[in-house]
Amino acid sequence: SDIILEVRDLVKHYPLRRTKLLESPARVRALNGVSFSIARGESFGLVGESGCGKTTAGHTIIKLLEPTGGKMFFEGEDITTIKGERLKYLRRKIQIIFQDTAGSLNPKKTVKWILSEPLRSQGVRSRSEIERTIRESLGLVDLDESFLDRYPHELSGGQKQRIGILSALILNPEFIIADEPVSALDVSIQAQILNLMKNLQKRLSLTYLFISHDLGVVHFFCDRIAVMYLGEIVEMAEATDLYANPCHPYTQSLFSAIPGASTTGQRIILQGDAPDPTNPPQGCPFHPRCFKRMEICTHTRPKTVEISRGHSICCHLYP
Ligand code: SF4
Repeated sequence: SDIILEVRDLVKHYPLRRTKLLESPARVRALNGVSFSIARGESFGLVGESGCGKTTAGHTIIKLLEPTGGKMFFEGEDITTIKGERLKYLRRKIQIIFQDTAGSLNPKKTVKWILSEPLRSQGVRSRSEIERTIRESLGLVDLDESFLDRYPHELSGGQKQRIGILSALILNPEFIIADEPVSALDVSIQAQILNLMKNLQKRLSLTYLFISHDLGVVHFFCDRIAVMYLGEIVEMAEATDLYANPCHPYTQSLFSAIPGASTTGQRIILQGDAPDPTNPPQGCPFHPRCFKRMEICTHTRPKTVEISRGHSICCHLYP
């Protein structure tokens, strides 16, 4: 199939903080060799707890962060170190919807100003062209021209998120990184926004990288899912496959928290501390919390193996 984005062995480590007193500050190992590719038109989900590296992955792909290692390709072009005009082009093709997009709308500016900002940043100068583009695009998110002169405080949470989504779409991108796009919203509005995003995907032939801590939401939205733990992908499969046959103990614990989804019906409560990305454990990074831990897990890192077509897993239970 037509691969739009490929990420190979992506690594991102950064110092926890820089102080003069601390000669060698602890390093956050946010990404430890993450690889995946996304086909055009697909919705690919990255799921895991906070600190697993999923947001760092999104920010590195859109080049808000520089990778420490690895390679990234967009439409076949190596974008790992691009700059200048090519970067500007990439910033038009790949857009990001943030979790707090709604909350981060400038409270002093009208909807019209907010929507014109991305166009201006890409060098569109003509006022009439900006107006026309905005007016023509409002319908995409089921809003109309009556919203143009309103301020963010005059909008509901769902309307604000629609404006946030539209400001990501206004440059006609091909690839959208959606970073927790509904987790700040009321549950009643989440489904509306997710359905809107699905419709937009069909209408505009978009590809999504969908980042969330909520496996239920990711399973609803995505065609394929990668489960991340401490900067690594521990399991990756088609959404239906992962749902029917979650293999990694961490994936099993995530599914067990979703009512009706667990294979055994038993809620698996993880023991031990939440992962610390500055100090990952020896062996399998998940072993301190794993309910299927074996002796080998404490000292030897498992390798990723493909257990069936498109379903890969990184765990000693699958040699
Ligand atoms: Fe658990 Fe061992 Fe598999 Fe890690 S490798 S997930 S500790 S069984």
